[in-house]
Amino acid sequence: RSKEKGGNSYHYYQPEMNKRSLHRLNLEIHLRKALERDEFRIFYQPIVDLSNGKIYGMESLIRWVHPEWGMISPAEFIPLAEETGLIIPIGNWVLKQSCLNNKKWQNIGHPPLCVSVNISAIQFHQPQFVQLVEKTLEETGLEPKLLCLEITENVAMTNISYIIDTMQKLRALGVRISIDDFGTGYSSFSYLKRFRVHTLKIDQSFIRDVTVDEENAAIVTALIAMSRQLKIKSLAEGVETQEQLDFLINQGCDEVQGYVFSKPMPAHEFELMIKENKQLYLM
Ligand code: C2E
Ligand code: MG
Ligand code: MG
Ligand code: MG
Repeated sequence: RSKEKGGNSYHYYQPEMNKRSLHRLNLEIHLRKALERDEFRIFYQPIVDLSNGKIYGMESLIRWVHPEWGMISPAEFIPLAEETGLIIPIGNWVLKQSCLNNKKWQNIGHPPLCVSVNISAIQFHQPQFVQLVEKTLEETGLEPKLLCLEITENVAMTNISYIIDTMQKLRALGVRISIDDFGTGYSSFSYLKRFRVHTLKIDQSFIRDVTVDEENAAIVTALIAMSRQLKIKSLAEGVETQEQLDFLINQGCDEVQGYVFSKPMPAHEFELMIKENKQLYLM
């Protein structure tokens, strides 16, 4: 019976599936050309240090500006880039550009900022990943401590000994590591201890209604307290309102990122912001 059902639904969904795979194929064809056509841009979103209200650094967020389709969100093309392996050249480009820009901004006289770059699991698991990071730092002249690599818990899931080894090598280089979207993946708390990351980024799904949802409030409170005990910095993502910000300040959260301060902005706007205000207080 279930086979029969499956058969029916197969026929029923086929045109829809074709449409979808056609869309995917089309996207893939264009994605393959996007790098050489210089269609990617990086937007930067400030990260604020709550201990002094100053900007601590910024997260690099890729955008794809297609000449006909316009701006395409990374949520749409990053998964495809991962499936096709295109994430390797794209990710290398983001890393290099982020380091170059950060170095450039340091040279215009702003106090040093730490740039955070999202690293996909596929990049992280490349055997040459540590060497690549090292080479990029050398080529761009950026100090290692001014680069932070954001990895998700899903990276931290498989092949634990390889990950611990890679993390140690990255730490030895002097770069920082944060766990992105913490609380949405599968990692256990013992990994957190073994990986010895610098920053825990609390996922925005917990922050969204932290002031009205008691469970989210309890989770966020516990994560901030746990980070403090483990001597890891806590960073809240997706902070949109003053009420959420007040809650996080009260709980002793270390850093905040979100629309309450600024949306991600194009490089030239970010540069203007730091040029105009050399001691950037966002609070
Ligand atoms: P993420 O690393 O967790 O980045 C944070 C996302 O939250 C960004 O979405 C940012 O624009 C958004 N955001 C920041 N503040 C707020 C806020 O106050 N409210 C709300 N609602 N959203 C906020 P974006 O730029 O669309 O990126 C989505 C995801 O795509 C990122 O999540 C990251 O996983 C991935 N991504 C972006 N750039 C790259 C990249 O260069 N490489 C890789 N591998 N992944 C990337
Ligand atoms: Mg991130
Ligand atoms: Mg995140
Ligand atoms: Mg995310």
